[in-house]
Amino acid sequence: KQAAYAAMRDVEPFTRDGTRIEVMMNAGLRDDVAMLSVTGADGIGLFRTEFQFLVSAALPQRDRQTRLYRDVLETAGDKKVIFRTVDIGGDKSLPYLTSKTSREDENPAMGWRALRLSLERGGLLKVQARALLDAAAGRELNVMFPMVSEVWEFDAAKAVFDGQIAFMKKLKHKLPLSVKYGVMLEVPSLAETLDLLCPRVSFISVGTNDLTQFLFAADRANPALAERYDWLSPAILRFLKRVVNGCVGTGVQLGVCGEMGGRRLEALALIGLGVRRLSITPAAVGPVKELVRKIDTREIAAAMNGWLAQPPASMRAELQAWAEARGI
Ligand code: PEP
Ligand code: MG
Repeated sequence: KQAAYAAMRDVEPFTRDGTRIEVMMNAGLRDDVAMLSVTGADGIGLFRTEFQFLVSAALPQRDRQTRLYRDVLETAGDKKVIFRTVDIGGDKSLPYLTSKTSREDENPAMGWRALRLSLERGGLLKVQARALLDAAAGRELNVMFPMVSEVWEFDAAKAVFDGQIAFMKKLKHKLPLSVKYGVMLEVPSLAETLDLLCPRVSFISVGTNDLTQFLFAADRANPALAERYDWLSPAILRFLKRVVNGCVGTGVQLGVCGEMGGRRLEALALIGLGVRRLSITPAAVGPVKELVRKIDTREIAAAMNGWLAQPPASMRAELQAWAEARGI
């Protein structure tokens, strides 16, 4: 089986009806990036920059951040890399980073974390922005903000980048050829303002790990709840369908970067909903590429529409049977 997936490395993931699905991978460490050529992924759809912070005893200095981002871009070569600004705080708390306003989070997942922390600690985001802009000098930079709940948070974060760009221009520093901005959609409230968000961003990446925890009010880290809510439940799938519809015709590239996208039936369902970009764990790239080549998007879209309108008792069983009947 491993050999079969290795053989998928150089195969482009087109569906049977000729739709190109972007199969990207998630990464967080310098060494992960080598998996791009091993798996043949289309790029890095989520680079978790907080990993460097989590393994450091003190706040990583700007030059260390720049070096990491530059190494990542160099190893990636022509492939796209989407850097997510730090998602720390909450349960991934760091002794050297504390809030001015709250001492301890009772609900860390919903607490002082990610972009909320970056915006309060403006200096931290400024340093990260400068490191990313320097590292991507002369090429394209893709920046993504985590845990955006309202559009103003995106505006505030982008303003930090704009400030750094203006400053670098004044000093005649070399800048990226272009900078594209996007957000993680992982807090349900953001989905209610897609019409406001889409004109502002180039891409949106749905973080289904956090999204499902917030949609179901079920802690993603609690093993007692791990089996209870299914990614193939009508609530999630209908939610995602609305997000897909909200992005249609806006020019915004929509992807999914949660663990959901790396699983067989889930990936099938997502493609049926109209998702055309998945960013998944490297081990899933080969299997998902193989899956993509067996799918007819029109067929799965029609089936999904029917199931969403009238959900079967078990979407998972239905989808499994549907896939089996087609040799998928
Ligand atoms: C997510 O929430 O789905 C996601 C991809 O980000 P993380 O797992 O890092 O929270
Ligand atoms: Mg998340």
